[in-house]
Amino acid sequence: MSNKTPIAIIGTGFAGLGMGIKLKEAGYEDFVILEQGSDVGGTWRDNHYPGCACDVQSALYSFSFEQNPEWSRMYAQQSEILAYLRHCAEKYGLMPHIRFNTHLTAAHFDETRNRWTLDLADSGRLWNYMQRHDLKPGDALDLEDPELPDMEQLEAGVLVSGMGGLSTPAYPNIEGLDRFQGKLFHSQDWDHGYDLKGKRVAVIGTGASAIQFVPEVAKEAARVDLYQRTPPWIMPKPDRPMKGWEKALFRRVPAAQSALRNSIYWQLESRVLALALNPRLMKIAELEARRHIRKQIPDKALRRKVTPDYTIGCKRILLSNNYYPALAQDHVDVLTDGIQKVTAKGVVDKNGAEREVDAIIFGTGFKAQDPIPKGMVFGRGGRDLLDAWRDGAEAYKGTTVHGFPNFFMLVGPNTGLGHSSMVYMIESQIQYVMDALAKMRQKGWEAVDVKESVQADYNAMLQSKSDGSVWDSGCNSWYVNENGKNTTLWPSFTWAFRQQTHRFDAQHYECVTSAPLREVAGEAVPA
Ligand code: NAP
Repeated sequence: MSNKTPIAIIGTGFAGLGMGIKLKEAGYEDFVILEQGSDVGGTWRDNHYPGCACDVQSALYSFSFEQNPEWSRMYAQQSEILAYLRHCAEKYGLMPHIRFNTHLTAAHFDETRNRWTLDLADSGRLWNYMQRHDLKPGDALDLEDPELPDMEQLEAGVLVSGMGGLSTPAYPNIEGLDRFQGKLFHSQDWDHGYDLKGKRVAVIGTGASAIQFVPEVAKEAARVDLYQRTPPWIMPKPDRPMKGWEKALFRRVPAAQSALRNSIYWQLESRVLALALNPRLMKIAELEARRHIRKQIPDKALRRKVTPDYTIGCKRILLSNNYYPALAQDHVDVLTDGIQKVTAKGVVDKNGAEREVDAIIFGTGFKAQDPIPKGMVFGRGGRDLLDAWRDGAEAYKGTTVHGFPNFFMLVGPNTGLGHSSMVYMIESQIQYVMDALAKMRQKGWEAVDVKESVQADYNAMLQSKSDGSVWDSGCNSWYVNENGKNTTLWPSFTWAFRQQTHRFDAQHYECVTSAPLREVAGEAVPA
């Protein structure tokens, strides 16, 4: 395979595959998709814990151009979404473009040639190296270490990241974890070979993943100790199997499925009125969530424990019909005294009480604030992206960062959603990148770099929009960093983002033609 490509894409989740599909549709044949795993699917390949499903309706959580009449449920399970992504990769002819088991360790922008140089390692060898050096995903690599596996170099004109914001697991910093003699794993690295039957299991965390797997763990385990730091607000999940006649209708009349998709879109979009514009309206949702607790949990003490004390919507609102009933069982204990340490045999709470367990499962989420590890992406002047983001990640339209020319991020800073489908945001960003590529070709630009002042103004506007929203109402969430800056969420309507990303606004970029062209222009036009 050639060591040069006009366009390199990282990842084969919705973002990377969607980008590849649109490139092919527009006639681009020369591009490479780098995938560290041995299969496509991104987060839907990596997260396979029991109970894993999407909490956005599948008619909307799918590509607009590839509707699937066969969804078995209103909210598909992980295995079905993964099968859908594999189908998309095959159907749109992406497989020959994908280099599997290829891990991007570093990307350097060469200003003299306006090109990215990518250091690629074999995923298996890199994984062995990381295990030998006790490194976790997301830890910075020492690129000077002679023991690092051999790197292959690939040169790319444009680099598109489809790495996603929630791919690096976050492990809690709890004293004594390394002493624990039992089984220990994160929800993203679920060990299906470990039989939970009859085991005493501690679960740490009560977020979106935990509320899906705790009911499944409770079906098997002899005892579940659920360590809750902050209870989530949870609403009923209006899930149901799709009926035979509905699927037949969607097969024959795709417009009927589009109508369902549109109605879901506008129903979810209406939530922005309360989330971003008038958080007082969230009271209505809170009443429904409180009713859900009362209906599903008979015990008043347990009801009190699981009832949050912050405004609903400040953290992601979760959907579940089986989480509260799981907690109400006798062999499940919700523990709220905090964790002091872990010993060889179990977990000690802040009152000093030890509970012995056979396994500890982390439902502790992802490093959302550092979506790209330090030491991975180096822009103009060799600047590390994480140094540019010292005060928190930011981009222009969630896609480009000043000083990092020809680098486009899908699911970049401030594109996350708490209320609707990320696939809609991804498709909006892909349109922006496609228009940028078309203009670069048309005008002969070798590099485009967003202007610093444009990025600064854009982010000032974003932060002012976040002020006064429900996400700013005083809870501790991964939406906002330690300085109170919203680095992850799109604080408005998704259609507003689509309008912004419809066209590549070249006037906000420094656009340069190739070096020889510039010299000719310099000679031809006297100063
Ligand atoms: P999460 O929502 O960030 O939840 C992490 C949980 O771990 C929280 O309860 C947190 O408590 C707790 N925690 C973290 N560190 C801890 C510590 N040191 N000690 C005790 N508790 C600790 O993570 P997640 O559940 O993996 O979900 C992450 C995101 O993935 C979601 O927000 C969502 O965007 C996405 N997701 C989506 C779906 C879907 O259906 N679409 C499903 C799963 C995940 P605090 O609240 O106190 O911080």
